[in-house]
Amino acid sequence: MMRRALLLAGIVSMTLAPSAPATASDAEFRRAFGDDFFDRYWELSPGSAVAYGYYKYADRLTVPDEQARATALEQIDRWLAELARIDPTDLSPAVRADRAMLEAQLRGERWSLTELKSWQWDPSSYNVADTFALLLDLDYAPLEQRLRSILTRLDNVPAYYAAAKKNVATPTREHTQLAIEQNRGALGVFGTDLEQTVGVSSLTRAERATFLQRLTAARAAIEDYVAWLEALDARLASGATPARSFRLGAELYAQKFAFDIQSGDNAEALYERAVAEQKRLFQRMSLLADLLWPKYFPNAPVPADELAKIGEVIATLSLQHVPREQLVAAVRDQIPELERWVREHDLLELDATKPLTVRETPPHKRGIAGASIDAPGPYDPDAPTYYNVTPLDDLSAERAESWLREYNQWMLPVLNIHEAIPGHYAQLVYANRSPSLIKSIFGNGAMIEGWAVYAERMMLESGYGEDKAEAWLIYSKWNLRSVTNTILDYGVHVRGMSEADAIDLLTRQAFQTEQEAREKWRRVTLTSVQLTSYFSGYSAIVDLREQLKREQAGTFDLKRFHEQFLSYGNAPVRVIRELMLETKSQSN
Ligand code: ZN
Ligand code: ZN
Repeated sequence: MMRRALLLAGIVSMTLAPSAPATASDAEFRRAFGDDFFDRYWELSPGSAVAYGYYKYADRLTVPDEQARATALEQIDRWLAELARIDPTDLSPAVRADRAMLEAQLRGERWSLTELKSWQWDPSSYNVADTFALLLDLDYAPLEQRLRSILTRLDNVPAYYAAAKKNVATPTREHTQLAIEQNRGALGVFGTDLEQTVGVSSLTRAERATFLQRLTAARAAIEDYVAWLEALDARLASGATPARSFRLGAELYAQKFAFDIQSGDNAEALYERAVAEQKRLFQRMSLLADLLWPKYFPNAPVPADELAKIGEVIATLSLQHVPREQLVAAVRDQIPELERWVREHDLLELDATKPLTVRETPPHKRGIAGASIDAPGPYDPDAPTYYNVTPLDDLSAERAESWLREYNQWMLPVLNIHEAIPGHYAQLVYANRSPSLIKSIFGNGAMIEGWAVYAERMMLESGYGEDKAEAWLIYSKWNLRSVTNTILDYGVHVRGMSEADAIDLLTRQAFQTEQEAREKWRRVTLTSVQLTSYFSGYSAIVDLREQLKREQAGTFDLKRFHEQFLSYGNAPVRVIRELMLETKSQSN
């Protein structure tokens, strides 16, 4: 055991060492797309900059008008031309991954402005509240300095909403209603709390007076936008103004999928794969339910309907869960167990100097119940990482019970695997070893989610959960969720799936509650493609692993595969795949 561990450690340090020395082109790329590039990038998107922890342009609010779009396009084209001058084949692998990601990002932004044009049809893309709220909450600078940034920023709010009204041409009703709801909510940020904060601050009397004037004007601009949207919504409802469908349609969907997912698959192929996977999962779950039936229903006949049978077994297993008040403690106990399991089964080297701290989600960050990784942003890498678990205190007894049944005795570990170890948290620690602003800011969502979903399966394959039918059945229900998300997203946006069919898909065919299904339906009417990222990333990783297993036959090493895969940071699986296959052919 010991000897084997040492041997593997040797292989690890070999694969993690840079496989090629930095080249002259690497230096050129880093010069062209280093700090100065990001500074200009953030200058054009000062609100996003604040969200990423870059505050230099915190006092600016870009008015989203024709001029701003033209400036952004010109800049994107200059960057793309600059990128084209750097030959990827001259770059070392890590830098080549950065170059590929940056190019995809810039092309995606260009496409979004010129083809997708959600700035014309999504009125909810106009909302100034978030950045103002962040500037008030974040302690990156003394309060007075932050208030002065807010004061300057406020000046553009009326022009911002005037431009929004000019841009919105053919909105969807769903995004119009969302915009009404969210902009109403935005008014809360500009209310009496802020007035009081300004009143007791050490701003000068003149500054305070200007602040109140601008605050009043900002509120009026938001209220006017909401009223304008309400009138628009009434016209959309009556048909006086034709509404755009929330369904993206085949052409835009295929393009968005290519830019956002970058798995190497196309959208339709992924959809077909998800449909096949759903069938396979049903077969497997049916067998598991047959196995479990006599244990849990010794006196009842097995239902003839397969889905009903599976659903009944899942419902019965779901009754076994931790008591409501012990949720956080249970998660805290499971994390070291997962770490031990990963070590003892040679799945992945975990950095012992970076233990994960489990804590109750701080009150101001509590939204929906659940658990999530709270990692520092790229501009504050030394801040600690937390695993936030939201206690169920704020939920009614009924809602808490429903949550606990979902995250029952077998599901809670799967959640911890996904979010923490060896899922998101472990992946993040690896990504931070080769720090690159490009990878952390333009990280590929399908790779990140795909890894977490892959980690669940890999843990069960290693014997976690003692190979019990209960563990596999509940895991399969969870896995079915990402498969179903893919079927739903493509089904709704490309194939015109009806709401009734979508609800049936989610409840009867994926064993979700009516409430979950309603929330998911709303999500799919407001977003597109993102719901496919889990399954697409997951299947691309499984494909790559199986290919390498076949090719390397007896010498394939799972731990080495995981570590090499994670060593490229948050790059798309397609890019990682190329780099891994190339490293392999070099070493042969
Ligand atoms: Zn219960
Ligand atoms: Zn996730």
